[in-house]
Amino acid sequence: MKYIRFKYQDAISYGLLSDQSIQVLEGSPFSSYTITDKTVSLKEVELLHPCDFSKAVCVGLNYSDHAKEFQLPIPTEPVVFLKPSTSALAPEKPIIYPTMCGRLDYEAELAIVIGKKAHNITEAEAASYILGYSCANDVTARDLQPKQGQWTIAKSFDTFCPLGPFVSDEVDPANLAIESRVNGRTMQKSNTSNLIFKVPFLVSYLSQVMTLLPGDVILTGTPGGISGMHKGDTVEIIIEGLGTLRNTIG
Ligand code: MG
Repeated sequence: MKYIRFKYQDAISYGLLSDQSIQVLEGSPFSSYTITDKTVSLKEVELLHPCDFSKAVCVGLNYSDHAKEFQLPIPTEPVVFLKPSTSALAPEKPIIYPTMCGRLDYEAELAIVIGKKAHNITEAEAASYILGYSCANDVTARDLQPKQGQWTIAKSFDTFCPLGPFVSDEVDPANLAIESRVNGRTMQKSNTSNLIFKVPFLVSYLSQVMTLLPGDVILTGTPGGISGMHKGDTVEIIIEGLGTLRNTIG
């Protein structure tokens, strides 16, 4: 299934995406739903980010080539930070370049979308708590990152967590091509098979720290090749089977 969230004639709904057509759902994939017989065309709707999360839990330095480009050791435990719910951004909407930021970076990341409340679960149980996967951009005010003892300010501005265009349960997260492009030029190119800490481990590990709620997302880290963006640029995160998450810089 490919779940999307959209606005149509002032109503916000979830739907199942099939090609260019949306089968409208009554209810939510994060609680319970029924599939209605109503369909709308993808062209007619305003796409929203596919889930309203209470928290985006982000893993830093989870690809060895990215740790190397920062000249940091490969972590032996996950490096974890949070983005607030107000950082969520829909596909095609502008990322706001903050006035206090001197360098704004993209980070292509596989997002895990939690489907049901997860507390103290094992790696073997992880899959049954995951609704699916999506593309995410861990937008970062890079020049602000080393100024602080931690990363909250650099990672938390409004619009710094683009997500989408849909959540799919039809992919194997252990082996997906992942890429970022700025103005059509490839900037990062890797595969989720290179993740240091894998999806089942991350869900289990984080669920032992904080209860993961339906709609929460885990951003799994970015591969090497980071660089800056400028006002007017178009940034795309492309993950095999998960479509293209496109935003502009406003
Ligand atoms: Mg990141």
